[in-house]
Amino acid sequence: MWVASEHTSSITAAAAWLRAARRVTVLTGAGISTDSGIPDFRGPNGLWTKNPQAQKAANLQHYLDSVEVRRFAWQNRLHSAAWAAQPNPGHRALVEIERRGQLLRLVTQNIDELHQRAGHAPELVLEVHGTMHRSVCWTCGDRRPMTETLERVRTGEDDPDCLLCRERGVTGVLKSDTISFGQSLVAEVIHAAMQAAQETDLLIAVGSSLQVYPVANMVPRARAAGARIIVVNGEPTKMDHHADAVLIGSISEVLTELVGT
Ligand code: NAD
Repeated sequence: MWVASEHTSSITAAAAWLRAARRVTVLTGAGISTDSGIPDFRGPNGLWTKNPQAQKAANLQHYLDSVEVRRFAWQNRLHSAAWAAQPNPGHRALVEIERRGQLLRLVTQNIDELHQRAGHAPELVLEVHGTMHRSVCWTCGDRRPMTETLERVRTGEDDPDCLLCRERGVTGVLKSDTISFGQSLVAEVIHAAMQAAQETDLLIAVGSSLQVYPVANMVPRARAAGARIIVVNGEPTKMDHHADAVLIGSISEVLTELVGT
């Protein structure tokens, strides 16, 4: 349970900056979805904080090289809490910023699609680390809904391979359509995120430890371009020194108060 206590005076100022802003960019990380029941990686209850082994399955080369790592990953995907997760008040508060006509872009490191489910226009959401709702073939690039691929796992395939490649006599390794460690980011998506940082007059960074690059660079980029910076998180981040306000507390509670929903 996060304690929202120390931000009372800064939140009043931050709420006034938000009301006055014309082009708001929001950057979100795993922390916004923990109240929906999806654990983050590096927070106090994070998957990697509790089980450093899980980090191995997120590494592209380990995943491609090892059938054991892939079997572990498919079982993790099959039983992920994310399939049943619903948007929470933090996601909904951000939708209100869009509804007021102030949202330039919502850039998310999350792969859970809860921002779109909460009601954001999909074209305003930039998923810099992809989505867990699709699978992709590492050999031929075929993409399809993850539900189809997980159904194969559920019915006994512990490391499903690409069906199109199979027809050509090739084995295509399937993975979720997310950016693993060691995998290149999508240049156009990162470019659009950096452009939003450049053009915004207020950047709100929510629920991220802000230590994954290049996305974390959006903060100094926006700062250098003259934007105000608000950080919302339950603990200090790597970018707090760039912020005009650091709002420490429960993300759902702080965002609800900040936006006034
Ligand atoms: P992170 O795990 O590095 O940091 C999350 C931060 O949020 C931590 O500082 C934690 O203390 C804070 N936090 C968690 N719950 C909170 C709450 N309820 N109130 C206040 N603070 C809270 O997350 P990151 O920076 O996004 O990096 C993790 C990477 O892992 C991302 O790139 C993302 O792709 C991926 N990931 C995504 C999901 C998801 O889609 N929901 C979940 C886990 C990891």
